[in-house]
Amino acid sequence: MTSPLVRTAPSPTGFLHIGNVRSIMFNWLFARRYSGRFLLRYDDTDLARSKPEFADAIAEDLAWLGVVPDFVIKQSDRLAIYDAAAARLREAGRLYPCYETADELDRRRKRQLARGLPPVYDRAALKLTAEDRAQLEAEGRKPHWRFLLEPRVVAWNDLIRGEAHVDCASLSDQVLIREDGSYLYHLPSVVDDAETGVTHVIRGEDHVTNTAVQIQIFEALGAALPFFGHHNLLTTASGEGLSKRLGHLSLRGLRESGVEALAVAALAVLVGSSDAVRPVASLDELAGLVELAHVSRAPAKFDEHELEALSARTLHQLPYDAVAERLAVLGVPATEPFWLAVRGNLGKLDDVKAWWQVVEGPLHPVVTDPAFAAAAASVLPAEPFDATSWKSWTQAVAAATGAKGKALFMPLRLALTGLEHGPELAALLPLIGREKALKRLAGETA
Ligand code: GLU
Repeated sequence: MTSPLVRTAPSPTGFLHIGNVRSIMFNWLFARRYSGRFLLRYDDTDLARSKPEFADAIAEDLAWLGVVPDFVIKQSDRLAIYDAAAARLREAGRLYPCYETADELDRRRKRQLARGLPPVYDRAALKLTAEDRAQLEAEGRKPHWRFLLEPRVVAWNDLIRGEAHVDCASLSDQVLIREDGSYLYHLPSVVDDAETGVTHVIRGEDHVTNTAVQIQIFEALGAALPFFGHHNLLTTASGEGLSKRLGHLSLRGLRESGVEALAVAALAVLVGSSDAVRPVASLDELAGLVELAHVSRAPAKFDEHELEALSARTLHQLPYDAVAERLAVLGVPATEPFWLAVRGNLGKLDDVKAWWQVVEGPLHPVVTDPAFAAAAASVLPAEPFDATSWKSWTQAVAAATGAKGKALFMPLRLALTGLEHGPELAALLPLIGREKALKRLAGETA
């Protein structure tokens, strides 16, 4: 395949949420897998609802996911290009002015439904003469503009769904331009996809009908068609759609909750797939797991508990290099041996702080049997400690005290860490060191 260009095209009218991540990641991973490029396009033609704060938040959330666009455009910069395309569609007779008000259209739809007819726009405006239009405009009415659909079946070979087709005879002619001259979604999207050379449009299956309309617009403009792929949408565990209203499922909310971005990315694309959802160590590894043609159409149910569990499992296998900077940001000057010792006990990365405290102190030890602790202290080997020190020490403690099993290990764990559970002591002991270990065995805060 020649180097593909994919895009994600959010409207900066709100925060990205977990549902958006599925689309974003399918695109990003596809670009990664096939050495392609990834375009971030802000669909901000709705000037009233688009906000620069949301555009900034989207860029920030993408960066958190590890998604770095190769280039960024915004539609509000490109209006002249859409005007030129609209002029060409008008000349070709594919864009026609309509004067109905929203109320009129609504009443018409209700009448159609009452008569058992599909609520498709009846193209009444096509019958207007030049005089009718002049008259309406003299009354102060401004036209909105609809794209004249050809009443035919539009078919494509969907990257995910295989053979797909939509009968455009059953669709309303879509409004491309509002009364105030602003553009709705379709025309800018097609013009940009064509002009920027997008090769693969990968988006949710809520866009299947749009794709049929857009294919007709591409063709009317004489533009080459990209490939299209439509994935199913994430739903809640009970099968409802995820919406922007679910604030805590926004990427911001998830980030604040301490969930791993890699886990969010992995779950968003692996959920509902035949391969088990599993942790990955990098986006490149994830890219190798996702093949669009194999994306399952089974319901993709998003479960917050599954995300939490996957996030923890993601941490448990992350190499030190992948987290070193983040540990520094958390104020934990951790070393690789520390990371490898504690990562398996983390739910969230933030939990490292508590384990750092256990290793560095000060810590209040729990000494249940001072005589036993003193006996253990007396056979603690000299430093340097290594991975075998724990074993040789506990063997010596067993020989000196006769304790074994839980009676041997639990008092040592409580004395050294103050806790009943935690990372392998074989790994912790060298990190704690002899001096602190002796103090803790003596019941001193250290
Ligand atoms: N702005 C559109 C949306 O967020 C883009 C859809 C598309 O990918 O074409 O739904």
